[in-house]
Parts: sequence; structure tokens; C-alpha cells
Amino acid sequence: MEAQITLGDIVADVILKDIKNVHLSVYPPNGHVRISAPERMSIDNVRAYAVSKLRWIKQQQKKLQSQERITPREYVNGESHYLWGKRYLLHVFETATTPHVVLRARHLELHVRPDSTVEKRAELLETWLRQQLKSAVPKLIAKWEPKIGVEVANFYVQRMKTKWGSCSHEKGNIRLNTELAKKPVECLEYIVVHEMVHLIERSHNERFINLMNENMPKWKFYREELNRLPVRHEDWQY
Ligand SMILES: [Zn+2]
Repeated sequence: MEAQITLGDIVADVILKDIKNVHLSVYPPNGHVRISAPERMSIDNVRAYAVSKLRWIKQQQKKLQSQERITPREYVNGESHYLWGKRYLLHVFETATTPHVVLRARHLELHVRPDSTVEKRAELLETWLRQQLKSAVPKLIAKWEPKIGVEVANFYVQRMKTKWGSCSHEKGNIRLNTELAKKPVECLEYIVVHEMVHLIERSHNERFINLMNENMPKWKFYREELNRLPVRHEDWQY
């Protein structure tokens, strides 16, 4: 069953279905509210629940509104691109040789074929960003392995839609989102440490939090920083 409830100026869609717990979500880009609730729950109870979460709903909506949205990139001269949290302006050059990227003090040079498409340019830059990330990660892993007391078998850098990183507990592998190359390097370090701690403790329980606090007392600050910065996708999990 579907219904709508109004909470002041907020309209929430309610879906009653065969579930055990209430789920309340705030969706980008406009902060649309949706509540899934168990079938047997009355609309009045759903409303009471939503009212108790009103502060949280408003916080989430505010967060979504304040987040700078990244417009689609066109890979043309003068466009802003990021590496390690620093902004660079794009300079596009046409070349007959192999396409490549050059990092200057304030510019990122994209050397591309005269007939290169937006997709080709995007792919070139993404590959380059992945390489930047790949070369930054080993020293971070080497720094944290003895501190945390865990070994990373392998790490992978890849495009990920909704996460900054993930790990395979059994194999001892960690995976990192290519987008991290655009963030300040301490954000990358936080995600590396987070995933390494997951190799010891899978869930975000008290033990996990304690391990994070011990190893990286400022981890919450880095997490905030990641959330504060422009994002391409919402509802990041990590
Ligand atoms: Zn996690």
C-alpha cells in the first residue's frame, strides 16, 4: 500500500510492505522523503515515527542542498579538474603522438588526437588519475601495516559508484575508488586505514570504532572532509 503524509512543509511517500523495520530515506537531488514500513503499522504510527526523525530529515535535506553539484565535464580548455584536492585548469592540445597527460603547476595538459571525443578525453584523464592513485597507495599501506598489525595482499583502484572503498576479508584485498585521486590525500589515507581496519573487523561495530580511534584519532574529521567536498554520487557508504 502506498500513502502520503505531510509533516509541515515536508511531504513523505509511505510504502507499507512485508518488512520488519521502518526505513526512512532522504533522496537526492531534492531531499525527497520516502518511508517503508511494515504492513501492520498504522499511518498514525508511521507519522509519529517520521515526526521523531524530523530533525534528521531536515539535516539531510540541508546537506543535499548545500552540496556543490558537479556538472558534466566536457574536457575543454579552462575547465576545472581536481588532483589531491587541488584545482587545475585544463589545457587541451592536439597531437599526432600517443595521447597523454602532463601535470603543470596550475594546469593539467591533455594531449589528444585532433579527432578525440569527450569519451576519449574522459578515459585518458581517468586512466591518468587511476595511475596517480595507484602510485600513492603502496607507501600508505606500508606505513599502516605495522601500526594496525595487518597485511594487505593486494589493492585495486577502480571506478565505484557508491563507495569510496571496500575490502575482501578472506583474500586480504582492498579496493579504492578512482575518485579519491581528486580528494585531499589525507582523505585517501583515511579510506585506506578504514579498509585495512575492516580486514581485522568486518562491521562498523564498537571494536571497529575503537580501532579507528586508536590508529587515526582524527578519522571523523577526514570523513567530514570527504562528505563536504563535491561529490558525483550521493549516499556514499564506507
Ligand atoms: Zn566500512
